[in-house]
Amino acid sequence: MLHEISVQSCKRDEMINITGQVQKIVAKENVQEGLAVVFCAHTTAGITINENADPDVQKDFLRRLDEIYPWNMAEDRHFEGNSAAHLKSSTVGASQTVIIHKGKLLLGQWQGIYFCEFDGPRARTCFVKIIWHN
Ligand code: ZN
Repeated sequence: MLHEISVQSCKRDEMINITGQVQKIVAKENVQEGLAVVFCAHTTAGITINENADPDVQKDFLRRLDEIYPWNMAEDRHFEGNSAAHLKSSTVGASQTVIIHKGKLLLGQWQGIYFCEFDGPRARTCFVKIIWHN
C-alpha cells in the first residue's frame, strides 16, 4: 500500500520534520523488519536525514545552500525564475530509504527525516512505501 504525507510549508526555504508521520505509517502497517522509502514527487523540494536536536543546524543548512545557489542569478534561463530551487532539490535528492528494525525506524538518536522545501510556501505531498523483509 502506498501512503501519502501532506506537508504545508510556510517559507520559501524550510525543513519540516516528518519522522513522526513516517513512524506512524510503519506502526499502522505493523511491519517489524523492512525498509521505508520516503519519496518527494516535486522538482523544487527534497528529502534528507539530518540533526533533529539543534534547530540552528537547519538554519545553517538552508543558509549554506542559499550561498551555493543564490536565488537571483542574471544568467539563469529557466522561465520560472526558480533555478536555485531546482538545484537545491537535486543536491538534497528526492528520496531517502530507512531501515525498519523491531517495528521502528532505525535512525540515530540525533537523526530526523526532513521534507526540504525550496520554493514555498506551498502545499506538498510526499509518498511512503513500506517494503517488508523478514
Ligand atoms: Zn522551475
